[in-house]
Amino acid sequence: AKDQGRNTYRLYTEDMTRKALDRLEIETLLREALANGELYLEYQPLVSVHSNAIFGAEALMRWKNPLRGVIRPDEFIPVAEESGMITRIGDFALLEACRSMKRLLDEGLPLRTIAVNISPRQFLLQDVVASVKKSLAETGLRPEYLELEITESALMHDPDQSLQTLLALRDLGIRLAIDDFGTGYSSLAHLKRFPLHKLKIDRSFIRDIPHDLDSEKIATTIVAMARGLELKVLAEGVETEDQRKFLEEHNCDFFQGYLCSPAVSAETLAELVKKQRR
Ligand code: C2E
Ligand code: CA
Ligand code: CA
Ligand code: CA
Repeated sequence: AKDQGRNTYRLYTEDMTRKALDRLEIETLLREALANGELYLEYQPLVSVHSNAIFGAEALMRWKNPLRGVIRPDEFIPVAEESGMITRIGDFALLEACRSMKRLLDEGLPLRTIAVNISPRQFLLQDVVASVKKSLAETGLRPEYLELEITESALMHDPDQSLQTLLALRDLGIRLAIDDFGTGYSSLAHLKRFPLHKLKIDRSFIRDIPHDLDSEKIATTIVAMARGLELKVLAEGVETEDQRKFLEEHNCDFFQGYLCSPAVSAETLAELVKKQRR
């Protein structure tokens, strides 16, 4: 029993060490990743629930490291956040997304929205207003095409400061969406004050539709709430036609998810948009 206890202890510490090293390794590799061109964006179509038309895309960061292979955003975005690297990585994403969108519009594609994720740290600490201005100026993208996705927790950390930042962003003419809605807690009073355009219902509430009554209730409640606040509403992670139908019946405006397409290259996005015009 004594040996067993010691073994358990050793395994536990080994496991902890491995996790710590992984994290450090990610941080070390990430420092070079941007300069080495290992980071790039893919674009997931945003779709109208009613017409099934692609009207925009969300830019999602990708990382392929020659030694470690594909590293998922869920693994490296938190490391980028905690190490402060998110500032540079976030600026890269903004600029690159604006550049791609400008190119697609110049090709004549009927797109309205390019959505870019802004991490809490970027939103709270960095001068995100200056970054947005710079990306728009450098690429020539008109502001009304750009939408920033911000989580509830980033906004609620300091609601008064957030309001000031959001107002400044709105004055630039860009749009603002709340990401992963329903997973944090926002005060209705604040939501009402913020100059927002869209709520994005988190995938966890869509996944079990139409089998789970609680999920259905939460999704329809969020749609109703968005209506009341005069916001557009998008459902994330839609994988089945049943889910899309449910959302259509309950008046959700938009969706994204594998039912239409995963995130793809800008070229493939252009193909998808062209295909639907025929
Ligand atoms: P998110 O912003 O909620 O992005 C949606 C995630 O859901 C993406 O994962 C997307 O690939 C995935 N997804 C979309 N449709 C479906 C579906 O039908 N089924 C399933 N199972 N998944 C679906 P991804 O690309 O792995 O990104 C994960 C998270 O990493 C994002 O969640 C976002 O929080 C963060 N992230 C990604 N790119 C960036 C970025 O450029 N900047 C920042 N700050 N965060 C980013
Ligand atoms: Ca997002
Ligand atoms: Ca989301
Ligand atoms: Ca999410």
